[in-house]
Amino acid sequence: MLTVKAYAAHSVTEPLSLTTIERRDVGPHDVLIDIKFSGICHSDIHTVRGEWSAPKLPLAPGHEIAGIVAEVGSAVTRHKVGDRVGVGCMVNSCRECANCQQGEEQYCLAGNIGTYGALDRDGTITQGGYSTHIVVTEDFVLNIPDGIELDVAAPLLCAGITTYSPLRHWGAGPGKRVAIVGLGGLGHMAVKLAHAMGAEVTVLSQSLKKQEDGLRLGADHYHATGDPATFKTLRGSFDLIINTVSANIDVDAYLGLLALDGAMVNVGAPPEKLSLNVFSLIGARRTYAGSLIGGIRETQEMLNFCAEHGLGSEIEVIGADKINEAYERVLASDVRYRFVIDASTF
Ligand code: NAP
Ligand code: ZN
Ligand code: ZN
Repeated sequence: MLTVKAYAAHSVTEPLSLTTIERRDVGPHDVLIDIKFSGICHSDIHTVRGEWSAPKLPLAPGHEIAGIVAEVGSAVTRHKVGDRVGVGCMVNSCRECANCQQGEEQYCLAGNIGTYGALDRDGTITQGGYSTHIVVTEDFVLNIPDGIELDVAAPLLCAGITTYSPLRHWGAGPGKRVAIVGLGGLGHMAVKLAHAMGAEVTVLSQSLKKQEDGLRLGADHYHATGDPATFKTLRGSFDLIINTVSANIDVDAYLGLLALDGAMVNVGAPPEKLSLNVFSLIGARRTYAGSLIGGIRETQEMLNFCAEHGLGSEIEVIGADKINEAYERVLASDVRYRFVIDASTF
């Protein structure tokens, strides 16, 4: 066992605090990673505050991990000491079910094993990336291509793949009109990726405050959803809408922005139930769908795509002692566009 420093939640109402956690000994198929950077995802906040379900405490969150391989198990073939690697939202799956067999481990029928707060195969509860080291089975460790710095790579492991996967699945590319709702961690990556795929990209943000940024990131158009005229002007004008909003939205209003056969994909995961009027769908053969991160193979494809296109996340690097402050800023939509913890500050 390796005892390492971490920032963890001890209750759903208290701030996170510095503590230590245990990492298992490096098994034959394991990789020990010296964590360099760890992104802060809104899912970390939903989880530690018990917004989705009661978390298993104490819990160190973090599933956007970038670091360097420090040790490998005797049977490891995919990674070697010194490699630049990443870990995203899951650290294992059954590997045998139909979905795992297709490389869609996130939809494992036995449930994927989340990077934090999940029951691991060894009976322990997984602990995430707000820490200095992590031990992960080699098949769930990604290679970070040369050319992407580790700090801007970290958020790609969740925000990047969560938006890349539905953009690819629903065919974002030349001739497709794609709208991204919410310009936060996921949203800003969705804009960069959809633009790099060749789609015509529109940002739908609550206000015009971030308009200049949105256009610089690759958007062709930018509209404020706080202005009711937006929903009239843009009616029926998108083939694909990716909703990244962490809170409840008026689903019908957004569905109305889809063209015939258009699809709206929810990646945002608000704790409250969303509701819709079926006439918003049947009136133009529209689809309302959801998408969860992406499989391991697709995550590597996304990292390679980002390297080819010179893409990384827009980040604000913080010391570990600023995690709680960063949470408040994320909740106030005051993130530009991902907080990344420098693990050397633990
Ligand atoms: P984030 O950085 O906080 O971004 C969310 C954005 O949504 C905000 O920046 C804001 O954009 C907009 N927003 C926030 N509150 C709003 C409200 N009340 N009404 C309208 N818009 C609002 O969060 P994130 O890390 O990108 O995560 C977004 C959501 O995706 C979370 O629910 C998270 O749990 C979920 N998630 C899902 C997956 C998956 O696999 N499906 C993976 C990762 C995260 P503007 O200021 O531009 O309006
Ligand atoms: Zn996440
Ligand atoms: Zn499975």
